[in-house]
Amino acid sequence: MRESKEIDFLLQGNQRLWDMSDWFKQTVDFIISDMESLFQEQCIKQAPPEDTRIIAKISKKLFSINSRDFESFNNVKVGVIFYKTREYVLAEKYLKDSLLNIDKIIETCDFCPGLINYLLAKIQIEKTEYRKANNYFLKSYKSIHSDISFFEKIEFFLQWSSLFTESGYFNYAEKILNLLSANIPPQISPIYAHILFGLFILSKKMNQTDIAVTYANILFSCPVEYLDFDDWYTIHLFCGEYNSSIKRSFDKAIFHFTQANSFLSYKWKEYLREISLLKDILKLSDYLSFRITYEDKMQEIILENNLHSSHYLNSLKNAYKELECIYEKVQEYSMTDSLTGLHNRRYLWKKMGELVVLAYKQKVPISCLMIDFDDFKLINDSYGHIEGDKVIKTVCNAIKAHFRKSDIVIRFGGEEILILMLNASKDNALRISEKLRTSIEDLIIMSADNQRIKLTISIGVSTIEHITNTNTTIIEELIDNADKFMYNAKKQGKNRIYLQE
Ligand code: GH3
Ligand code: MG
Ligand code: MG
Repeated sequence: MRESKEIDFLLQGNQRLWDMSDWFKQTVDFIISDMESLFQEQCIKQAPPEDTRIIAKISKKLFSINSRDFESFNNVKVGVIFYKTREYVLAEKYLKDSLLNIDKIIETCDFCPGLINYLLAKIQIEKTEYRKANNYFLKSYKSIHSDISFFEKIEFFLQWSSLFTESGYFNYAEKILNLLSANIPPQISPIYAHILFGLFILSKKMNQTDIAVTYANILFSCPVEYLDFDDWYTIHLFCGEYNSSIKRSFDKAIFHFTQANSFLSYKWKEYLREISLLKDILKLSDYLSFRITYEDKMQEIILENNLHSSHYLNSLKNAYKELECIYEKVQEYSMTDSLTGLHNRRYLWKKMGELVVLAYKQKVPISCLMIDFDDFKLINDSYGHIEGDKVIKTVCNAIKAHFRKSDIVIRFGGEEILILMLNASKDNALRISEKLRTSIEDLIIMSADNQRIKLTISIGVSTIEHITNTNTTIIEELIDNADKFMYNAKKQGKNRIYLQE
């Protein structure tokens, strides 16, 4: 047998303490050449069988054997149950113990030792004992390769590739997975789903997030029974995190976290079913002592679940924050004038109430300035509307610079600016207005054709010294008065301030 000789040679690799990378390379070369000849021999036309998983084969075979007649199998059975419930330390112990009675086991089931070694290999991967894992895979393959079907071989290599994914030999895993996926018809079938899952895990490990998501999306079109609950849990958790932290698509994140949560509870129920099988196989004292360990495991799962709920909550919190941010931005946009960047009337209506309450509580006056540009029509007529816009922008910037952050500066109309100042008396308002008027008069504004544009403003000033109630009509009256006074300023000759007597 060509294979057996080659495997014997590879098995020596462990004893000879080859460099792990060399040893793995030789192993992968063997796997690839074995697969290539397999694909040459067999043209895959028929649909793959429903379940190609080796662990399913082991379970089926084992649990068809009566425990009382064949006690030598009990250790294997317990080992398999512990393997399935992720109790790897115990699984390893029972499986190794079973190997002590191997002769009796072989009498009833000749390929059982191969399957035991296969499980031991998978356990070593979990324990990050990668050298040992490869050794068990080699031993296992040596003894069962002639007994297992074509698709079971593929499944075997697929599981072997996970050793290279987990140990960081990504290119080896990639080689095997690519060869498999190229030769399996890409119809949705369990074996194809397992290959895609292998590729998903590999991309995830290699931080190729987008590729991993692509594989996950193909997998979502597969029936649930094609993968283990554990696998679905991993996929959904990954997609939840991806949507929450990279895509910031929180509805999708929450969907995946919810799915992950469901699979976690299915997984948990499945574990319980498996564990209950132990009652008939283990001695009562052993079963009870295990129950204690299992209680710890239960807590671990609950913890995992909690951790997972916190992912979910974080995602919700982030979604909420994001919405709040967007809402604030929309609010800000809807209250800002796009030409000048000043607030608009909508902002004024929103702030009026706040302003009057503050003035009332603090017992301070409020002053209002209504500013209108003088003869602005002339500017539009002489320089055009586009230049006119630029002038409005420049002058508004200059106006804004005169006021405190707490003052309310509104583009009230086309070239009408309204100011509301808390804690500004009539005298203060007058002083500020005068300063503003002269600074605009002196402002140098250049047109596109390099002419100096002269502009002046007229200002109406009104003040309420004593606020007697918190009704916003007070502010409306204040604004009306400022507007009237501004017209008085115009009437008196423009470029001036008109003040309430
Ligand atoms: P007065 O001194 O009496 O205020 O004379 P005025 O020409 O400024 O007259 P009024 O304030 O009544 O009219 C303002 C003009 O400003 C009318 C309109 O054509 C112009 N205007 C209003 N908004 C804008 C704008 O956003 N861009 C430009 N370019 N012009 C505007
Ligand atoms: Mg005007
Ligand atoms: Mg006007």
